[in-house]
Amino acid sequence: MSTRGGIDLGGTKIQAVVVNGAGRPLGDARAPTPHDGGPADVAEAMSAVLREAATAAGVEPAELSGVGVGSPGDVDAATGVVSNVVNLPNWAAGFPLAETLAGALRTQVAIGNDVQVATNAEARLGAGKPYSSLLGVFWGTGVGGGIVLNGKAWVGRGAAAEIGHMVVRRGGARCPCGRRGCMEAYAGRGAMEARARRLNKRGRRTRLFEIMEDRGRDRLTSGVWERALTQGDGLAEELIERALKALGAGVASAVNLLDVEAVVIGGGLGLRLGEPYVRRIREAMMPHLFNDDRPPAVELSTLGDLGGAIGAALLVPARRKAPAKAASLSERTSQEA
Ligand SMILES: [Zn+2]
Repeated sequence: MSTRGGIDLGGTKIQAVVVNGAGRPLGDARAPTPHDGGPADVAEAMSAVLREAATAAGVEPAELSGVGVGSPGDVDAATGVVSNVVNLPNWAAGFPLAETLAGALRTQVAIGNDVQVATNAEARLGAGKPYSSLLGVFWGTGVGGGIVLNGKAWVGRGAAAEIGHMVVRRGGARCPCGRRGCMEAYAGRGAMEARARRLNKRGRRTRLFEIMEDRGRDRLTSGVWERALTQGDGLAEELIERALKALGAGVASAVNLLDVEAVVIGGGLGLRLGEPYVRRIREAMMPHLFNDDRPPAVELSTLGDLGGAIGAALLVPARRKAPAKAASLSERTSQEA
């Protein structure tokens, strides 16, 4: 069978998986993304995590039909060069990631956009399986998106599906991208944390930062938000409600344009908050849907944390068996002769 590897390169962690021909995980591993050094150090860490996943699956990396990588930044799929990775240090210039990993792992390497490969995985193996068109919405530090139309990924000129930067309010809140009024400026966990810190400094009471410290964190992780919400923290609920309203407007606008059959919600915050919040996103979309008597299905990702790495593995073309068959056939023919 065609055993393949997949690596999801994230801002905080590297997730690797080895899957069988059907895309089912045989072994996986994860490690924090190194934040000192540069792309060469990140590539080295990626190789190490993939090797660990391969060991868990009982194979050597060189035995894999290939390794796929889902990467942030600008990805040149043809050359395997990645540039402008804004959330990792010293990675503005192009770095030959595919070539470096192929050398280290001694197998072919294919690279795609991280969010798009996660959407492809949901479309082929996850919550999007029954549908031929869908929108993936990954609600985490930022808000990423992926589009599948008629069973095929739509990447535009390479930068499609930046759903986090749909404008939900002209002249609105400042987005981490520098522009104003983007959905991510309200719904991204990074922007939510920045607002929570500002309001807390101005005297607004909240349990968010106590929970963060209790957990030994220095950021408001998805787990911190979840805990604060279950404790009924007023500020957490207010900021989540604000995020849900922005998601409702932004995702519904995208649906008005594309008329996809389904929206699949993933990402750190989406997965952590789960089904009840997916229902709230669905409700928040309703007032903005033009075709509101026929809304799309809105579903939680079923591949979860491994989706990005599984989607990356799907970038590797299945190994063609024809040459092997031809060889054995010619052997037999020569023996018979
Ligand atoms: Zn933006």
